[in-house]
Amino acid sequence: MCAKDCSGATGDVLTERAYAELVAHYAPDGVIISGPDRLTLWVNPAFTTQTGYAIADLRDKMAVDVLRGPETDRKILQHIDIACSRRREIQTEVQLHARDGRVFWVELKITPVFDAAGVHTHFISHMHDITERKKLEHQNDEMRQAEELRQSERQLLALTSEWLYSAKSFDELLMVVQRAMHTLIPEADGALYIYGASRSTLDLATSWGSVPEFPPHILPDECWALRRGRAYAYGLKPIQFTCDHVSKPDTPYFCLPIIAHGETIGLLHIIFDGFEENGLMRHMRDDVLRNRWDVSLICAEQISLAIANVRLRQELHDKSMRDALTGLWNRRWFMERALREFASAEPQGNGVGLIMLDVDHFKAFNDRFGHDAGDLVLREVGAILTRVASDRIHPCRLGGEEFVLLCPDMSVADVAALACRIRGALQALRLSVAGTELPQVTASAGVASFPDHGRSVEDVLKAADQALYLAKDQGRNCTVTAENAPPPPAR
Ligand code: GH3
Ligand code: MG
Ligand code: MG
Repeated sequence: MCAKDCSGATGDVLTERAYAELVAHYAPDGVIISGPDRLTLWVNPAFTTQTGYAIADLRDKMAVDVLRGPETDRKILQHIDIACSRRREIQTEVQLHARDGRVFWVELKITPVFDAAGVHTHFISHMHDITERKKLEHQNDEMRQAEELRQSERQLLALTSEWLYSAKSFDELLMVVQRAMHTLIPEADGALYIYGASRSTLDLATSWGSVPEFPPHILPDECWALRRGRAYAYGLKPIQFTCDHVSKPDTPYFCLPIIAHGETIGLLHIIFDGFEENGLMRHMRDDVLRNRWDVSLICAEQISLAIANVRLRQELHDKSMRDALTGLWNRRWFMERALREFASAEPQGNGVGLIMLDVDHFKAFNDRFGHDAGDLVLREVGAILTRVASDRIHPCRLGGEEFVLLCPDMSVADVAALACRIRGALQALRLSVAGTELPQVTASAGVASFPDHGRSVEDVLKAADQALYLAKDQGRNCTVTAENAPPPPAR
């Protein structure tokens, strides 16, 4: 700022006017004096420093018209207009445009000036630069918003992990994954793939969002994450290649291996379809992607742990339902499953068949060849029954040398034929223990069916047992269906 000639020696007492001139000249804030019509009459040097405009640029113009820019809040301009038209003082914060295009914030105070007769003569506008303060406020706002976002994400993740851990079955877990992922990363679609039993492909277990064409199976070789054994983000790095299982080029996506007990068991795939159409600017898109990447990594870890947890539960549950010697389902499983099958049997369908199978003269066999040879026979019966097991044939060991097969939606004739086949397979067995060949083993079978021979599991089981008793009575090594057996006692 240039020195002002205040026409006086150092320390001289000056006139009021000279003091006023000094203040106007050296004041650090911009000052505009305008007429009652708001057209500019005078600006101080600080105003010119602040805005780059001198009085010549503003004369006969409203300063606010020159200084307003696209960032200037229209509502604030309206408030200023209203206050000035009512000749009221107004103090506000507004964003303005300097001559060089720089955007700056000022605290603006416009005061109407009246003469001794009360006639409105001028407006004095005072502009205090608050750009730095606004910048800090903005940064604080951003930090607060980011912190709030992180907080709500943390809460959501904690909630998700709680749900994931309380999933009792794999199906329940998939449902939680689907809902949670949709909520945690709303702008993305996704899918969870799990390795098939052969481990040659991964099968689509569940998907969410609007992408309809996730492939139902993918090969491990088609995915960079599975090939490299670590999570892969497409869309955040300058050098990157699309996985073969992704059909949309140039769409950002993540692939995250799902690992349980150190073994890769699946893949979490998250794709940001429609990101560009959402109008997100490039740097914002990258910020969102980076944040979602962090969230996805946590999700993949939680899903991995939850799957391991469900599998462990399933294994324990299976163990409690399996017979240790043969690996077949046990009596508890049979009772639970039979109840369900009876309840859901189609009224017009085939009903639910039961085969009771009992090894003939097993006590004598045990006594003669020992308990271990007896166990061998039971294991072999188990192996034969496992081979015939299917969606409609559920072999179980009830206890001792008694087995039962639960056969939903099978005609009595088919069930009886199955019983004969099983007996034939058992008879064909050639077993030996410590080099000694064991004699041929035979079994007898009783067949009954729901609802023909009873309406409860107990009644049909009893009918099959009675048929079995008849088979034993008829000389063993044969199959008897309940039609030939006495009907179950009336209740
Ligand atoms: P039937 O032809 O009338 O069925 O005569 P059975 O001797 O087979 O029938 P019984 O019910 O009298 O004998 C069953 C035998 O099965 C008695 C028991 O020693 C044997 N047993 C039961 N459970 C096991 C087991 O887990 N292992 C072995 N080795 N034997 C078992
Ligand atoms: Mg027996
Ligand atoms: Mg028996």
